[in-house]
Amino acid sequence: MSTPKIVIVGGNFAGLTGALELRRLLGDEVEITLISKDDKFVFIPSLIWVPFGWRKPQDISFALAPVLERAKIHFIHAPATRIDPTTKTVHTSLGSYSYDYLLIATGPYPQYEIVPGLGPNGYTHSICSIEHALHAQAGWKKLVDDPGPVVIGATQGASCFGAAYEFLFNFAHALRKARLAKKVPITFITAEPFCGHFGIGGLKGGQQMLEFFLKRLGIRWLTNVGVKEIVPNEVHLLDGQILPFKFAMIIPPFLGVEAIRNSPGLGNEKGFIPVKPTYQHQHFSDIYAAGVAVAVHVPWQTPLSVGVPKTGYPAETMAKIAAHNIAAQIKGDPPREEKEFGEIPALCVMDAGNMGVLILSDKMLPPRKFELLIPGPQAHWAKVAFEKYYLWKMQHGLVQLP
Ligand SMILES: Cc1cc2nc3c(=O)[nH]c(=O)nc-3n(C[C@H](O)[C@H](O)[C@H](O)COP(=O)(O)OP(=O)(O)OC[C@H]3O[C@@H](n4cnc5c(N)ncnc54)[C@H](O)[C@@H]3O)c2cc1C
Repeated sequence: MSTPKIVIVGGNFAGLTGALELRRLLGDEVEITLISKDDKFVFIPSLIWVPFGWRKPQDISFALAPVLERAKIHFIHAPATRIDPTTKTVHTSLGSYSYDYLLIATGPYPQYEIVPGLGPNGYTHSICSIEHALHAQAGWKKLVDDPGPVVIGATQGASCFGAAYEFLFNFAHALRKARLAKKVPITFITAEPFCGHFGIGGLKGGQQMLEFFLKRLGIRWLTNVGVKEIVPNEVHLLDGQILPFKFAMIIPPFLGVEAIRNSPGLGNEKGFIPVKPTYQHQHFSDIYAAGVAVAVHVPWQTPLSVGVPKTGYPAETMAKIAAHNIAAQIKGDPPREEKEFGEIPALCVMDAGNMGVLILSDKMLPPRKFELLIPGPQAHWAKVAFEKYYLWKMQHGLVQLP
């Protein structure tokens, strides 16, 4: 029998975890190839600190090639352009690769086009990639020289609200450090029905806690608002309000990446992969998906659309489940490991520069039995410690706790 070929597309939280876990589970029994458009692993949660110079790109990233080489995983540094599930082929800008099993972990495509003028090609900043966070750093420096109003937030259809809040509170912290807080009025805008909904339905006490922080920092907030367009120095909201700004950072909605949207039958209308609780594609038993690439049902209706965040811990959990199920299939067993997305625990930190809130709950989506928010400086230090630990662990090819 020929050696089974596994291809992983995407090399960050879900992709690298999946690739290393497969090697750990299957040893040399399989040939593993990882295809990624980026040649680095980036610890995306730390991008919130790049605009203020508190992290440099090299502090929060490492090269994938040596890690993959040590794990005997072939590395193709190229974007996938299309996937053909019938011929079992991934097409890339460097050639085509066939697979017996495929794990799709391509993350999000930030849909700036949803609002005219939104994003780094328009008039607002973003922190969704290293390049954009560095661009935001240039914007921050300009604001320090010439202070004025600031707008921070997330558009209708966004799902990554946590990043908008973290950036907001870090921004307020950076202003205080620069002694500019009084010269820079901040408005926070969000499509969430209330502060702290976070796209997960909110957590007990979360709204009150966030509103307390916002009031204490003198930040004005507008919930349930959508953005109509951005013109130079002005955000125009759907309800007619106009917010002037000298600096704006607004998180867009996410779609699945173009390669999935270019592959008929693979993704849903937004380019996300419909999966079973085993993270196996609903129609192709040899295709799995993990992380942001996965389609998640939004279990509520809000006046403006609000997506569900697929954060780091669930991304890793999905990748490990997918890896175990691929390993089972290769050994001739059925894929048995499963966990609905909503059942995965929520573990994260909402950082605020010198303090933060530790967020713990038994499930990503309600109904939940256990929800705990622990504010304080220890949350900030927990995030810093986790960043260092996670980068060390992944750079050493370790997917299980050492
Ligand atoms: C600013 C910000 C802050 C965040 N903060 C937190 C936080 O504090 N805590 C938390 O838990 N989560 C946080 N998140 C969410 C977290 O970053 C995601 O959950 C995580 O990155 C998802 O991992 P992923 O592997 O699915 O996608 P990604 O990490 O985005 O990785 C996608 C991978 O696919 C590759 N790729 C994309 N397209 C192609 C293609 N066509 N061909 C080949 N490769 C491709 C990319 O190069 C990359 O390697 C934050 C997100 C943002 C944007």
